[in-house]
Amino acid sequence: MDPRLKKYAVQDVPRYTSYPTAVQFRGDFSHDTWKGWLAELPEDATLSVYVHIPFCAKMCWYCGCHTSVPNTYDRAERYVERLLREIEMTAPLVPGPKGRVTHFHFGGGTPTYLKEAHLASIVEKVRDLFGFAEGAEIAVEMDPRGFTPEKAKALADMGFNRGSFGVQDFNPRVQQLINRIQPYDIVARCVEDLRAAGIEAVNFDLIYGLPGQTVESVRETGRMAAGLAPDRIAVFGYAHVPWFKKHQKMIRDEDLPGIEERYEQALAMGEALCGNGYRVIGLDHYAREGDTMIEALDNGTLRRNFQGYTVDPADALLGFGTSAISSMPQGFAQSSRDMAKWATAIDEGRLTIDRGVEYTPEDLMRAEIIEKLMCFLRARPEEIAQRHGFAPETLAEAWDKLEPLEADGLCRIENGEVIVPDDRRLFVRTVASAFDAYYQPQPNRHAKAV
Ligand code: SF4
Repeated sequence: MDPRLKKYAVQDVPRYTSYPTAVQFRGDFSHDTWKGWLAELPEDATLSVYVHIPFCAKMCWYCGCHTSVPNTYDRAERYVERLLREIEMTAPLVPGPKGRVTHFHFGGGTPTYLKEAHLASIVEKVRDLFGFAEGAEIAVEMDPRGFTPEKAKALADMGFNRGSFGVQDFNPRVQQLINRIQPYDIVARCVEDLRAAGIEAVNFDLIYGLPGQTVESVRETGRMAAGLAPDRIAVFGYAHVPWFKKHQKMIRDEDLPGIEERYEQALAMGEALCGNGYRVIGLDHYAREGDTMIEALDNGTLRRNFQGYTVDPADALLGFGTSAISSMPQGFAQSSRDMAKWATAIDEGRLTIDRGVEYTPEDLMRAEIIEKLMCFLRARPEEIAQRHGFAPETLAEAWDKLEPLEADGLCRIENGEVIVPDDRRLFVRTVASAFDAYYQPQPNRHAKAV
């Protein structure tokens, strides 16, 4: 690793799945503001819907998601009842005709933890109250463990047309250390079952930086994953935050790779995927030639949202379930992350939103620069500022912050364009942070850059 890069690799920087980031969400966000945002949505606005299912059958030690392992299924059943009521309470507040949902995404947790009838009831509720647009993408995150051909068929019958498997790593020792045993054959069979059921679009999630991983084991996982030919692969760096996620204490510090090793693992994964038919997208996504995400990268329509990179062009994203974030033309709003508070709000007939942030005009300008950098590794900040009605001096501080980054090779500036070289894409968040007016480089506030 180039010694100049090390100090940036260990720095905590936002993932920029939103700007302003969740750290800027405020607790004094009122329901009247939220209702006003919904009422102001144009009647022809396209919609994206996200539903959060915060349950899993078993806890993986590396997990950083908002989830839990319920003692009995009753908890999940009661959650679904409330979720349906939450959707019913929100739908009448959205003006305009039905049939405008272009993307519908189930995340978690493990959405397929739910019994099929419960999953289907949620899909039906969204179909009834919002309605899907022609050709809408209906996607679900899945756990390969316990996945069956019957489940695949049931998902296809419900209308799902994209499935995302949490694969993480194929090495048996690593799987043991992270409490997630799912041999390669099981994953291979899941992909087969899903495609046989008619769900052709398949995503994988992989992770580097896990306990027990080596550069070679990560490379091997990359090769094996590519051999199963999922359409898209997202690769994340493991974030070890045991003071925040208590179950991560099950991972011993001495089993974790150091920062230089993490960097080499990230590079090795990229090489394995790009050497086996994939193209890299932005910071950490890979897709096969012909995939719509590659098209979006090439034609400049790629976007970034809470699910990472997306081709979702919707005007508004509505989130349902505890901790779900909605993204509106006016800003972001989040449902209570505390399950008890979320449930009480619904039982009392109140909306569940309990924090959010409204864009300022300057936020919108900075958000566009940051999103362009994150998606395309390049942006013309002054052109964007001008388009948003801001003088070039508004970005004076950002240019100052870029100076040392350019000197250390993280980016270059050519005729007003900021460019992150291909071999520095792992540091694009650091370059983007120069345009983040709120960013304070504090430890343990965000994920490590690498
Ligand atoms: S299955 Fe996914 S969400 Fe559930 S514990 Fe494991 S990593 Fe977390």
